[in-house]
Amino acid sequence: MKAVVYKGPYTVAVEQVEDPRIEQPTDAIVKVTSSAICGSDLHMYEGRTGAEPGIVFGHENLGIVQEVGAGVVGVRKGDRVVMPFNVACGFCKNCTAGHTGFCLTVNPGFAGGAYGYVAMGPYRGGQAEYLRVPFADFNCLRLPRGDEHEDDFALLADIFPTGYHATELAQVGRGETVSVFGAGPVGLMAAYSAMIRGAARVFVIDRVPDRLKLAEHIGAVPLDFGRGDVVELIKDQTEGEGTDKGIDAVGYQATVREGGEQPAVVLNTLVEAVRATGMLGVVGLYVPTDPGGPTEAARHGELLFKMGRFFEKGQRMGTGQADVKAYNRQLRDLIVAGRARPSFVVSHRLPLDLAPDAYQRFDKRESGWTKVLLKPGQ
Ligand code: NAD
Ligand code: ZN
Repeated sequence: MKAVVYKGPYTVAVEQVEDPRIEQPTDAIVKVTSSAICGSDLHMYEGRTGAEPGIVFGHENLGIVQEVGAGVVGVRKGDRVVMPFNVACGFCKNCTAGHTGFCLTVNPGFAGGAYGYVAMGPYRGGQAEYLRVPFADFNCLRLPRGDEHEDDFALLADIFPTGYHATELAQVGRGETVSVFGAGPVGLMAAYSAMIRGAARVFVIDRVPDRLKLAEHIGAVPLDFGRGDVVELIKDQTEGEGTDKGIDAVGYQATVREGGEQPAVVLNTLVEAVRATGMLGVVGLYVPTDPGGPTEAARHGELLFKMGRFFEKGQRMGTGQADVKAYNRQLRDLIVAGRARPSFVVSHRLPLDLAPDAYQRFDKRESGWTKVLLKPGQ
């Protein structure tokens, strides 16, 4: 079958790879109809993670069940399903507590499993014609048949639940003000989720004009960090206090050198933008090692976080991979009911063969390239 294969920094190719097959009785094989490119893929694409060439990318997958193993009872051939990016067993301590982003069975030494992702298990990605889904009963979420809402449902694999998770980590409540750093697909989904949860005002900070425009389109207040001190702008609009809650949807790729040896992180700005005792939800990725980091400390994943300011303000913080399964059913039902349309972020729907060009453009945050859905069947 055809698949998107990582060749080395800034290069992917569409190549023939072996078809996946049922390896365990609990597996299913899914014929992929949509697989999105994610900001998380760019960590590997840009060579920051030390990903081995040969990996098939793609952790945001939707498709039709093609075949199931003898132990699968909940889904059958022909079902339309979307898979959380997390590969999870459903029965370990973390999964039974709902923390499927941290499954102890599939990846005991690390934090959970994912398709097509370095250090998150041996699971091949779905930017391909077919995908093997382990523990299929647990990891497949069934969708209404047909092709309605395909783009909305595709976002249930990752960014919509991840954005929602950010608001859950920050405990965004009705009538609150929220700062969201990053207007990438994840930041936009976090802002959208904050609205769904009844936030009064949501500030979205980025510098990419068309992304800020999308933030405005959903009713958020866009702020361009290239045009002034965003903390001051936020304080000006919150009676000098800062917002009640804050979300980091940028992560370690936005590290900026602040004179010293260690890179500083957007998180320090977030601490300043949020009021004392406010809560922070951090879904932007911070990795334990950064082989491409600018300093020895950065290569070991060390970043300058101003703990003193965080302590002084008595803030709390939640971090980590999203437990997609904790939210995907409810978010699916909001889509079915017409109460959520997350696909406003989707800018491109492309056949698999155009993936190399799409990666390049999405990586450069070219104007208009907000979220790309690859369509292997087309
Ligand atoms: P993206 O790279 O498209 O978006 C990041 C945005 O941040 C860009 O628009 C960029 O212009 C903006 N940015 C850069 N520096 C900034 C700064 N200093 N202040 C404000 N904005 C800044 O990626 P994405 O797909 O939206 O993902 C965002 C992050 O979320 C990535 O780190 C990704 O790995 C992570 N992620 C985490 C999870 C999870 O489960 N926790 C899931 C998916 C993605
Ligand atoms: Zn993703």
